[in-house]
Amino acid sequence: MKKNLFTAILILLFSVGFNNTVVAQAAESIEVTGILAKNYAAGITEADLKTHLYIIASDEFEGRNTGEPGQKLAAEYIKDFYIAKNIASPLGENNYFQVIPTENLRRNLKPSENVVAFIKGSEFPDEILVVSAHYDHLGMDKDGEIYNGADDDGSGTVAVMAIAEAFQKAVEEGNGPKRSILFLHVTGEEKGLLGSKYYVNYPIFPLANTVSNLNIDMIGRSDEANEKDPNYIYLIGSDKLSTELHILSEEMNNKFTKLKLDYTYNLDSDPNRFYYRSDHYNFAKNNIPVIFYFNGTHENYHRISDTPDKINYELLAKRTQLVFYTAWEIANRENRIKVDN
Ligand SMILES: [Zn+2]
Repeated sequence: MKKNLFTAILILLFSVGFNNTVVAQAAESIEVTGILAKNYAAGITEADLKTHLYIIASDEFEGRNTGEPGQKLAAEYIKDFYIAKNIASPLGENNYFQVIPTENLRRNLKPSENVVAFIKGSEFPDEILVVSAHYDHLGMDKDGEIYNGADDDGSGTVAVMAIAEAFQKAVEEGNGPKRSILFLHVTGEEKGLLGSKYYVNYPIFPLANTVSNLNIDMIGRSDEANEKDPNYIYLIGSDKLSTELHILSEEMNNKFTKLKLDYTYNLDSDPNRFYYRSDHYNFAKNNIPVIFYFNGTHENYHRISDTPDKINYELLAKRTQLVFYTAWEIANRENRIKVDN
């Protein structure tokens, strides 16, 4: 951002003949953006996230297994949320489901759906930022025990909803994003990233106009290494395609959320290969810059004990706010972020 501001000021200096007022206004408008964003980020609260997560991860939704009745209930819940908040679908009317037929799924899965919502940009509506999380999980075991998947990925699901709500409030107050934002709740992640794969094969908006994907998969807990000081988040992928994305992500955190950004899993040498293991990878494969937000694994990962009572809601709110600020900057900065790697 510093470099861009510097360039912008240089251009202004030459074009207006060193008019100090214009230069001052340019600097001020960036400052105003920060204050505005802070206002709306404050609307992302522990209480709201908790309310939604206790429902998303409830026994009633039976572990949200792809194509099964519990997953459909979760899809309806997410859809009803967007309708209640007056957030439109990119598919028109009340159709918030991108239906994926069985032949595009695997292992005899029943048809399933990505849930989509959309906020249209005010200045560059054709440029799309995708904020995503998977809402499916593992279902039930053979004894009928439920995998509630509160962290995986109930946490990302409610984070995307909260971010959408914050942007919608901005829209209603005349401060909507300049670029468009697609809120993408993908299905079939646990079966092999199938929902995001379907999306990039049948994109609602051209991938060439998709400027970035911020993907959230598990942000409500702490792993063992960070238990004593859980004010952290692992970021994966931020510098792989766009230096600009990496820098702005760091700047937003330094300015607002002040989490410890941990790049351990971003190393190419990391044996876990997390960069390839969640939905953002389907976007990265298409040369779209991504950031994957992740708290690491823990003892309840992919166990029936991943329940909503174990979530750190204060931390979940702070991490959600980091994604929100980053989205705000991508959606509102003067230029589309550049791919340079
Ligand atoms: Zn997951």
